[in-house]
Order: sequence, then C-alpha cells, then structure tokens
Amino acid sequence: MNRPTGIIIISLFLNISLQDIKTQEKSLVNTLESPYALLGSVDMDVVKWTKGFWAERFQVCKDSMVPGMWQKLSDANVSHSFRNFEIASGKEKGTHKGPPFSDGDFYKWLESAASVYSVTRDKKLDRLMDNIIKVIVKSQREDGYIHTPVIIDQLNKASGKKEFQERLDFETYNMGHLMTAACIHYRATGKTTLLDVAKKAADFLYDFYKRSSPELARSAICPSHYMGVVEMYRTTKDPKYLELAESLINIRGLVRNGTDHNTDRIPFRQQSKAVGHAVRANYLYAGVADVYAETGDDSLMGALNLIWDDVVQKKLYITGACGALYDGVSPDGTSYNPAEIQQIHQAYGRDYQLPNITAHNESCANIGNILWNWRMLLITGKARYADIMELTMYNSLLAGVSLDGKSYFYTNPLCVTDDITYTLRWSKEREEYISYCNCCPPNTIRTIAEIHNYVYSMSDKGLYINLYGANILSTTLKDGSKLKLAQVTSYPWNGNIKISLEQVPEKEFSVFLRIPGWCDKAEIRINGIRSDLSAVPGEYAEIRCKWIAGDEVELIIPMPAKLIEANPLVEETRNQVAVKRGPVVYCLESVDIPGTNKIFDVVIPAKIDLKPRMMRIKNSEILCLEGEALLTDNSGWNGLLYRELPEDNHLPVNIRLIPYYAWGNRGHSDMTVWMPLSR
Ligand SMILES: [Zn+2]
Repeated sequence: MNRPTGIIIISLFLNISLQDIKTQEKSLVNTLESPYALLGSVDMDVVKWTKGFWAERFQVCKDSMVPGMWQKLSDANVSHSFRNFEIASGKEKGTHKGPPFSDGDFYKWLESAASVYSVTRDKKLDRLMDNIIKVIVKSQREDGYIHTPVIIDQLNKASGKKEFQERLDFETYNMGHLMTAACIHYRATGKTTLLDVAKKAADFLYDFYKRSSPELARSAICPSHYMGVVEMYRTTKDPKYLELAESLINIRGLVRNGTDHNTDRIPFRQQSKAVGHAVRANYLYAGVADVYAETGDDSLMGALNLIWDDVVQKKLYITGACGALYDGVSPDGTSYNPAEIQQIHQAYGRDYQLPNITAHNESCANIGNILWNWRMLLITGKARYADIMELTMYNSLLAGVSLDGKSYFYTNPLCVTDDITYTLRWSKEREEYISYCNCCPPNTIRTIAEIHNYVYSMSDKGLYINLYGANILSTTLKDGSKLKLAQVTSYPWNGNIKISLEQVPEKEFSVFLRIPGWCDKAEIRINGIRSDLSAVPGEYAEIRCKWIAGDEVELIIPMPAKLIEANPLVEETRNQVAVKRGPVVYCLESVDIPGTNKIFDVVIPAKIDLKPRMMRIKNSEILCLEGEALLTDNSGWNGLLYRELPEDNHLPVNIRLIPYYAWGNRGHSDMTVWMPLSR
C-alpha cells in the first residue's frame, strides 16, 4: 500500500452520489490506504445487528437517544446549541449562550444521526440532517472560520471577539468534531454538503497554523481536531491536511510554559506516562495514532506504547474507565516550590491512584480510550487493544446512559453512597441534559450508534472478527469478491459464537477470531468438528483455508463468574473483590440487599457460588448473578473515625449483582463495584 499523493478527484464534484464512493472507503475510520496500518475496516453500512445485546442497544439509540437529544439541542429553552448556529447564520437574532464547546457537541450529535442513517436509510432523518446542514453552511465565514461564539459576537458588535484569542474557547475542538462528523455524513449519505464546510474549515486551520506562533497553537484544547484533520486527509486525499496534522503534533513540542494538565509540559515524543485532563489526553493519543498510521513516525509510536502500558498497568479502572481525579496536582510536574505546583483537573492521577467514590471517569474520557485503542488495533492487528475496547464498551461506556436512552452521566464512579458527608460536583443520578457541560451525552450516543463498525476489520490476509454480537456482515473484498456471514450468539451473556459463512470468495483467505484476554481457554470448531488450532487468550486465532458457502465456525469460550482483585498498591480496593463475568463487570446496588442493610455491609466469601439468571430492567434483558454472601454489622459508628474490632458477626445473606452499566435504573440507590472479601 503506497501513500497516495495526488489531489483528489472526488472533491471536484459538489454533490456526488453514494455509488461514487468506493467500497471500503466508507468505514468509520478509513485506514484502508494508510501505509502503516495493518487493518482497514468494513463500510459503515455492511454490518447490521440482528438480535440480542447490541441490537437492543442500537434500537434504543435510534429510537430514544438520537431523537431525544435532538429535541433538547433544538429547544432554545433547554439548550442554545442549535440556536447558536441559527443566530450565526443570520436566521435568528440574539447572543451566544452555553459553553464555548457546544458547537462541537452539536456536531457529535449530527455524527450520531449520520451513523444511524447509514444503517436505517431513514429518509426523515436524512431530510433533518439536510436542513441542519443548510444552517451550518450559512454559519461559516467566507474564509472558512466557523465557531459560533466568535462569529455571533462579530455579527453583533463592530469590535467583536477575535478568533483564537482565548485559549479556552475550544475553536479547534469544535472544528475537529465538524471534520469527523462531515466525513461520517459523507460516507453515510454520499453528500458533500457538510464535507465542503469541513474542507473550508480545515483549509482555514492550515493557513492559520502556517502563520501562528507556538503560543497561539496552544489553543489546541481537547484536540479532537488531530483525528478530524487526519480523517479529512483520508477522505479527500489532500496531502496538506496530513501536513497540518503533523505540524499540530510537532508544534506541541515548541510550547513554553506547558502544563501536565494540557499534556504539553514536555514534547509529546518524550512522554512516557499518561498525564493531565483525561479526555484531552486520550484524544491526543488517538490523534497521534492517526498520524502514525499515515507517516510511520516511530518516535510517535514509541511514546504511544509507553503511555499505553502506563494506562493499562497502572491507571485504568476495572470498568475500562480513565481519569481518576476530579482535581489534583501534577504527579511529575511538581516541585518543592508551592508556586510551581501545577493543578490538574478531570485528570489521570498517580500510578495506582484509583479511588471509587470520587472517581471522575468522565464518559468522554472513556470514549477517548475506545477511539485510541481502535486506532492502535488498526495499526497493529493486536487483540490486546480490542480487549480494552470491549471492556470499556460493556462497562464504562454503557454506564454513561440509562437503559431507556433518556438520561446521561458525566462522571462514572465505581461506588456511590448517600452516606458521604460532602457533595461531589457532578450528579449521582443521570440527567436528561447536562446544562453545564453536555459534552458526554452526544459523545455516548455517537459511540453506541457506531459500535457495529468496530466488529470486523480486513487485512490483506482476510477478515478479523474483533467483537462478538449477533449480526450479519455483507461486504465486498478488495479483489471484488463477495463475503457474507452471520454471527449468531447471545454474547456477552454466553460465550458460544457461531459464524455461518453464507457467501465466500473463491480463493483461500483467513478468518481471524479474537480470543478474549479475559478467558482461560477457548475452543474452535469448524463444521462441528473440534479444531486443534491454538486459541491463545489475548491473541487472534487464524483459520486459513479455502472456504465453501455454508461453512460454519464456532468459538466456545467458557464464561464463569470470577472474583477479581486489584494490585495491592491500589489502596482503595485492598482486601476487596469485584465480580466479572466475561467482559462484564458487576456491581451491588442497595435495592438488591434485603432489609435496611447497606452496600458496605455485604462481604463476599472467596468460595461464593454465583448463579446466572436473566432479568429485565426498564425493558432491557440483563443477566444478573445471585448467591449467598455474608452480612457484617456496620452500625454503631456514631461519628467515630476508628474503633476496636468487634467480634466476627457475619450472617448469611442472599444478594443479587447486576452489570455495572445497568446500575441506577431502578430509582435512587447506593452502588459499589468493590466489596470486602472473606477468605
Ligand atoms: Zn464529556
């Protein structure tokens, strides 16, 4: 695969039809021609959930999340998000309201609508997007700049705000999400209406960064535009966008007085630890991975590998969540001079610093973790990245939204109790619209709308199956041959997966099955016969042969409930266990404990027998675990901080554990993932 250098042909046409986009150029992140990515992805419209877990979540996304969030974003009494565009376009009069990053969050919602449309082809949704895009087109300045806080100010006052004057104005964040949404909209609809806006914006940024100082370049707050600019390069093949992306990374190294909070105290290539605001850091890592996929710059991958190890070995929650701290000080950028100690906020903490009640774990940081690991997977084809994606999706991503798709979390703690004597900044209950900062809800919606895009990848050798869930895939391989298969499974509740190959290419090709890192063993059967192919947990098992239509591959992964402990250096969980079954982390909610007993009263015996049972919460099918635990008496503290250990008073108690992602859907409750262990 050679890196394309020519200027694109497709951009010469204003409105091309869908057929003109080549097959395999319509994937969510298009690494098909990226010279340093092993894998490309299948198109947005070739995978469809059929039934079961993700079919249900996609339906809730399509029927509840996408229309529900549009209702909020377009109601100026609730959110000024769309009204800001209407004012900037001249359609309405008024001032900008809401946070400076609300344009970017609006584009995320638009991306979710385009992603849903790519599967449903719902004409009403298409028309709605067309009408919205007409307003966005008119909100853009002739020179390509588009950012409603500044544009509205300039419309209203002769001496209005100037662009890029305030670091925290999030201009590049907004434009980055515009570029990503535009690429997705183009791939989903074949229309270039939004892509043309994104091209003008990317051209503006290209010219701006050519003449801007490193200090001005620091306005790269929350750098979603690294991913956006590289995707623009992949869509248009215009080499200047790749040049822009590279210079955005390089310019970070020239910053003076950088901070760990913004992950720019030291040049990126010298970094080895995850630091700073976890959303911004993860977006940076994902964007750098995108640049690597195109340039093969080893100094970038060297840093990414060290940072990835640091996150996974020392800073990742058991739920796949990132960014432990509400506020803190930089672990490495501190000095003994109090004036030089740097604050960090919504950030990665020190190694093994993973509190539960005060865990920040912003939904956007968890999503950033998925975006980063997806790019690492595409580059390397290594299953360990898919393991992290799966862990994050089933736990911290899904916890961010209620089962009915109506309300959302900003933070994702692993323990919530009304007994704490202080108030945390973010709500303990999901909210329909997070007025102070609505970045997470549309981010969660677009991610759930796009999960099917992560299931399959392609290499020159064949098909990679990264994730499991009941779906059908119908695609065309690079050589023009057709591939059609069905995945039948009730994963994640059961580890039996059947893949029926319904249409296959004539020549030999490989099917790579991801053997999840969480399992102890797995068995592969081909047409009902046990295969002696090695299935190593945490790697892909390759099955290479000349397939015949009707062939069946089965993957059987035992999925017992397991007690998990954390490294003893994690102070907050010492002598405690969490329960995990397959990729799903469980939790204990106060509603599932009899009487007036509390979550901290339950002790888990090391030999607990947890039985799986299906139940429904808010119309969603869920597998809960039931068993006999022990109850300890935690009464009588009466304001004491310490006391003499009372006699062992453990009594048996029946408990029910539910998946962590489903907590908080049965009214207000206390919840904990980690529980004390009795050996
Ligand atoms: Zn957020």
